[in-house]
Amino acid sequence: MGCPGGHARAALGLLMAGFTLAIAGAWMAQFAAAVHRDAAQLTELDSAIGDADHGSNLERGMAAVAALDPADFDDAAGYLKTAGMTLVGTVGGASGPLYGTLLLRFAGALSAGGEAGVADVGAALRAGLGGVRDRGKAQAGDKTMVDALEPAVAAYDEAVGGGADLADALAAAASAAATGRDATAPLVARKGRASYLGERSAGHIDPGAASTAMLIAAAARAASNPGILPIASDARPSPPSSNASPIDP
Ligand code: ADP
Ligand code: MG
Repeated sequence: MGCPGGHARAALGLLMAGFTLAIAGAWMAQFAAAVHRDAAQLTELDSAIGDADHGSNLERGMAAVAALDPADFDDAAGYLKTAGMTLVGTVGGASGPLYGTLLLRFAGALSAGGEAGVADVGAALRAGLGGVRDRGKAQAGDKTMVDALEPAVAAYDEAVGGGADLADALAAAASAAATGRDATAPLVARKGRASYLGERSAGHIDPGAASTAMLIAAAARAASNPGILPIASDARPSPPSSNASPIDP
């Protein structure tokens, strides 16, 4: 009698250990919700050293991604590939192709059909970082999203090396991304629109680094609980409560 339950628990444990389609869907839903909630803040950062469109750019793109139904896909790789192409197609500005490439390379590094393990996700994150680097040619210290993503990938690998599971490794990555984001403030931008400002770009956090920290934090939340509703109760002023999908199509 106890045996089937034990097996079920063991199977669930195995299932929870890897990066599943459910986690990928929760990741994108979490990120879409965070971008929706903080779009004005991202745009404010971009108004200081750019053209005040980063929040609206990403919000448009992530609303389109959130409208995808993960259930329509066979696996996380297929879903995230379409999410990446959706971002390329809907987000204007520099960040659309950069975020799109990040997700496309991440998806490309996951093997089709199979569930990705903790190390596979590290390789996928590294592939995503490589895509952003190839596309934008930015190095660490150039005051871009690379300054949040690169330390996140390093922290992820370090945590995995120390025996962390997926959720804990992503939490370490999210913490490093936030530190990297904050460290962009004193930097002078050497890539993208902010570089036109030269020395005057110093003193402000890079908007792309800020949104990248949100992306990694969303992954950590999704991995620790893929079943959570994609939006926090304080994320929207209204309606007071609803069972409906929190993201408008
Ligand atoms: P745009 O600069 O075209 O208005 P967004 O405002 O949407 O695009 O995005 C700006 C962000 O894109 C920057 O804050 C920076 O993080 C990122 N970015 C811009 N150029 C590059 C680049 N060459 N490499 C990496 N990231 C970049
Ligand atoms: Mg901009």
